[in-house]
Amino acid sequence: MKIKYSLSLVLLSFMMTNIQAQNAKPEDTEVWSPEPPKVTPSKVIYAKPPSDAVVLFDGKNLDEWVSNADRDKPADWTVKSGILTVNKNAGNIETKKSFGNYQLHIEWCIPKNITGSGQGRGNSGIFLASLGKGDPGYEIQVLDSYDNKTYVNGMAGSIYKQFAPLCNPTLKPGNWQAYDIAWKAPTFNEDGSVKSPATVTIYLNGVLVQNNVALLGPTQYIGKPSYSVKHGAALIKLQAHGDKSEPISFRNIWVREL
Ligand code: MG
Repeated sequence: MKIKYSLSLVLLSFMMTNIQAQNAKPEDTEVWSPEPPKVTPSKVIYAKPPSDAVVLFDGKNLDEWVSNADRDKPADWTVKSGILTVNKNAGNIETKKSFGNYQLHIEWCIPKNITGSGQGRGNSGIFLASLGKGDPGYEIQVLDSYDNKTYVNGMAGSIYKQFAPLCNPTLKPGNWQAYDIAWKAPTFNEDGSVKSPATVTIYLNGVLVQNNVALLGPTQYIGKPSYSVKHGAALIKLQAHGDKSEPISFRNIWVREL
């Protein structure tokens, strides 16, 4: 009798979890407060690559990148006047090489004439450790967050839908901004369970916005993130977000493997 009762309880809780998962909405994982304080950066460093860096974009071409949808195809974004601009029709692009633990420098610019609001205003993203087509990786958000309200765990400097930035040091659209990111990949036990979660430290425009944060898993748009796939070195991916606003640009991208 007792066994039957606890079995039904297990079944009931399983059904409840299933129903909850089915009813999960994107809004469930949005956090809107507190808003990180505005900070004016002193001097943004547009750092050229150190001697031991792997240069991913130096203004000339996309030789280090491929299409995320089809790795046999070249990355079809626009390179002009030393700048890389998102081609939303071409989709996401990702590196040819894989990286384990690394330091990443990347500069980005929201167009001066940007339109739209919330997540539809200059949205892109830098995915750390993506496993290729269909795999999200871990998104560091790129968005106009100078004067644009959205959920704080989805603004620039956030680890998308996981951690809001400690502060908001973003600049007005039209200015070049810089991310300096230290990434430590997760490690896994033989059975696939997490041995140590991924950690990330991020400076945005020279100001600390993520301080050695332990990630909960790869990015999830709906539902709670968790580590479901054991992985090591992986790709760096840039997002062609499907919103209607003017495409953003990147320049000066390099990685130092650690
Ligand atoms: Mg994004």
